[in-house]
Amino acid sequence: MSAVREFDVVIIGGGLVGASLALALSGGRHRVALLEAAVPPGGAPSWDERCIALNAASQAIFSALGAWGDLAPAAEPILSTHISERGRFGVARFTAAEAGLPALGYNIPVRHLGATLWRLAQGTAAELLCPARLSGLRLQGEGAELEMEGGARLSARLVVAADGAHSAVRAMLGIGHESRDYEQSAIVTAVRPARPHQGCAYERFTPDGPIALLPKPDGACSLVWTVPTRQAGAMLAWSEAEFLSAAEDTFGERLGRFRVLGRRNAHPLSRVLSERLTLPRVLFAGNAAQSLHPVAAQGFNLGLRDVAAIAEALQDATDPGAATLLRDYENARQADRERVAQFTDRLVRTFSNRLPGFAALRHLGLLAMDLTPPLKQAVMWQNLGYGHAPRMARGEERR
Ligand SMILES: Cc1cc2nc3c(=O)[nH]c(=O)nc-3n(C[C@H](O)[C@H](O)[C@H](O)COP(=O)(O)OP(=O)(O)OC[C@H]3O[C@@H](n4cnc5c(N)ncnc54)[C@H](O)[C@@H]3O)c2cc1C
Repeated sequence: MSAVREFDVVIIGGGLVGASLALALSGGRHRVALLEAAVPPGGAPSWDERCIALNAASQAIFSALGAWGDLAPAAEPILSTHISERGRFGVARFTAAEAGLPALGYNIPVRHLGATLWRLAQGTAAELLCPARLSGLRLQGEGAELEMEGGARLSARLVVAADGAHSAVRAMLGIGHESRDYEQSAIVTAVRPARPHQGCAYERFTPDGPIALLPKPDGACSLVWTVPTRQAGAMLAWSEAEFLSAAEDTFGERLGRFRVLGRRNAHPLSRVLSERLTLPRVLFAGNAAQSLHPVAAQGFNLGLRDVAAIAEALQDATDPGAATLLRDYENARQADRERVAQFTDRLVRTFSNRLPGFAALRHLGLLAMDLTPPLKQAVMWQNLGYGHAPRMARGEERR
């Protein structure tokens, strides 16, 4: 039997959240290891063709972690957002100027984000074990014992589960989860519209789901088109001309004709909420804690606030898995998580509702949001990621 290697913190999963956490814990007092089952670079399942819209709080967190300089060259500033509903003229607009910020957020290719975080994490004292798949986990009074496929064993005083929506840690510990299949899929690709995007992120709701166009650095836009899952396969098989023409028809004429289509991928959409955020010696972060519909572009932003909260909690801790620390983490993250999960779910259900009269109410809602400054400011503040946010998300330096 192999010897047990001892660590203070073992992170399971090196996706966007796990890699961010390895970076956030660098320079701290704890011995950190990260286990990732897939083979980077390019191997982590979340590093696909998508772009991620980082909100202002996430940009502040990456600045505090010293990563923003490496991320910024590939990130396009989002200067305004434009939210509308197909077939109605009501529109809600938000601008960076109204928020008093240089940008509402930044749209960045996932591949660049994932590869950069991984490279930066490699430059820290954290030990990145990859490919390494967790196959067994046993909790003991003062820590946990972990086994990897192949038999190697580790011990940790704190295990952070950042192993995604279908968390193996959750299953190994018998933690339940609430799951809702939206029966929708997001088709993701890139298009180049005839008119310049001018840094505007568009989201247009239709009864089948929203279509979003987000600005990219090269004048192109990433397109995220939510459709009923039963239609997604056929839409992936459409010719380029058929797909572009249907996308133009659904989005409307605001940016003119669409040209040049990137590769198309479909992501089935569901919501998965872990029943627990912590257990003795274990905490859940990112998609392992909550996986959300991408309609409001909040999933990773929320997961990154989990990361900031963990890093802040561990900063002065002698025992990183102490019960008080885990309780504080749970208290600190619960409200943010519930608010974002509820907001996202309501948005999906409100805009997918075909009941007579509902469309008129939605229309009034969009108009009210555009015309009522306090309401607009409250919604904007939440979407920027500032509600219930850890210190780093508010732009405060790490101590
Ligand atoms: C279409 C779409 C668009 C989106 N757009 C946005 C957006 O604009 N803004 C935003 O904030 N969010 C967005 N999201 C959400 C965002 O992509 C996710 O929240 C984020 O990628 C989750 O990262 P994660 O690291 O928690 O999980 P994952 O990316 O799932 O990573 C988990 C990692 O754990 C590893 N792993 C699993 N099991 C094991 C094991 N047993 N041992 C070792 N390793 C293991 C996996 O290999 C994987 O690398 C979008 C999502 C979709 C589907």
